[in-house]
Amino acid sequence: MELNDIIELDKKYYMNTFGSRTPVCFEKGEGIFLTDKSGKKYADFLGGIAVNALGHSHPALTSALIDQLGKLLHTSNLYYIENQAVLAKMICDISCGDKVFFANSGAEANEGAIKLARAYFKKKNMPGKYEFITLTNSFHGRTITTATATGQVKYNKLYSPLTPGFAYVPLNNIDALKEAISDHTCAIMLEPVQGESGVRPLEQTYVNEVKKICMGNDILLIFDEVQTGMGRTGKMFGYMHFGVEPDIFTLAKALGGGIPIGAVVAKDEVAKGFEPGDHGTTFGGNPFACRAGIAVIETILADKLVENSASIGAYILERLRQITENIFLVNEVRGLGLMIGIQFTLPEAVKIKNLFLDNGFLVGSVGDSVIRILPPLILTKADADAFIDTFRNIIYSL
Ligand SMILES: *Cc1c(COP(=O)(O)O)cnc(C)c1O
Repeated sequence: MELNDIIELDKKYYMNTFGSRTPVCFEKGEGIFLTDKSGKKYADFLGGIAVNALGHSHPALTSALIDQLGKLLHTSNLYYIENQAVLAKMICDISCGDKVFFANSGAEANEGAIKLARAYFKKKNMPGKYEFITLTNSFHGRTITTATATGQVKYNKLYSPLTPGFAYVPLNNIDALKEAISDHTCAIMLEPVQGESGVRPLEQTYVNEVKKICMGNDILLIFDEVQTGMGRTGKMFGYMHFGVEPDIFTLAKALGGGIPIGAVVAKDEVAKGFEPGDHGTTFGGNPFACRAGIAVIETILADKLVENSASIGAYILERLRQITENIFLVNEVRGLGLMIGIQFTLPEAVKIKNLFLDNGFLVGSVGDSVIRILPPLILTKADADAFIDTFRNIIYSL
C-alpha cells in the first residue's frame, strides 16, 4: 500500500486522537535505524517514545519471542506462569522492590500503584489517607484516574468529574509540597525526570526533603518510572540517582522492548495492600509479554546498556552544551543518560523536528519549544556524533 492510501484509510477509519501525524510509515527496522515505505532510512532518536531500548529487530529479543511464539502465548492468571515468576524475580533482583504485579501499559501500572497505595492504608485501618499529591506538568497516563493524577488540564479537562483525592504542586518546590500535605495524604507520586513536559529532572535536595516528609508522616513515595526505567537515565532506575528508595515504582515503556507490558513494583510491607481478589488482569504478565521482559533485562545487563546510556548520554549532553553555548536560539540542554531535552528560546521546535526528519533523524518535540531525544540504549558514539553534526548544521542553517 502507498503512504497516501494508508493516510486516507487512517482518516476514514481511525479515531482522530493523533491529529495529523508525521507523514511517514515505516516498514522495517534494524538497530537504531528505521526504513520507510519509500526506502528512506532514518536514525531513530525517539525510540518509539522510550520503548525500543534495544533498538529494532534486536537478535536476542527476536529469537526469544520467536521461540515463545512457537510454544505459548497466553494461559490466564488462573494458572502459574513460569516467565511471569522469573521476570518478577529479575526485576526485584535489580531494584529495591520485593514484589511485582504485571499490567499492559504505563497507565495501567500507575492505576495499579494508586489502587495499591489506597488499599495499603485501608488494610492498616487508616481509610482517611486517600489523597495523592502529584506535580504540575507531570504525566501519568490516560485512564480517568491517571489522567487525574496528570497535572496538566489539557489531558483531563474533558473528562470531569475526575477521580477525587488528587492535589498538585509545582516541581522542585518543597514549601508548596509541605503546604499541600494533610492527614489525608496517602502518597506522593513523582517522575524522577518529567518526560512529557520537556525532560525536567527532580533536584537532589528536593528528593531528600520529599523522602523525609514521607517517612515522618506515614506517606508512601511512588516513583513513576514508566519512561525513566530500564536504564534510560544512565542508572537502571531513575530513583537510583537520588539515593532514596520508593515504596512503589512503576515500569512500562522499555520493559518489553516493544511488546506491551507494565509493572507495579513494591516493598513487601506495601505489597500486603493487595490480597486475593483485590486486583487483577486478563492479559497482564502473560507468557509472551514476560518473555520479552526477560530478554530485555538479560540484554541490558549482558551488553552493559545502562553504562552505555550513562556514558553516551553524558557525551551528547556535553557536546550539545558546547555547541549551543553562544547560540541565542538555545536556552538550555538538560537531561540524564539518554533522556535529553533541548529548550529553545523561540517556538521553533516543530520546524527543527521536521528539519531533522528531512535529514534522516527521528526526534520528538514537546510543546513548541523543546526537542527531546530518547534513542535506543544500544546507541554508539558514532551514532551520537552523526546526530550532533546534524543538529549543528540545522542550528547554523536557521
Ligand atoms: C508514557 C508514560 C505513561 C503512560 O504510559 P502508557 O503506556 O501510554 O499508558 C505514564 N507515565 C509516564 C511517566 C510516561 O512517560
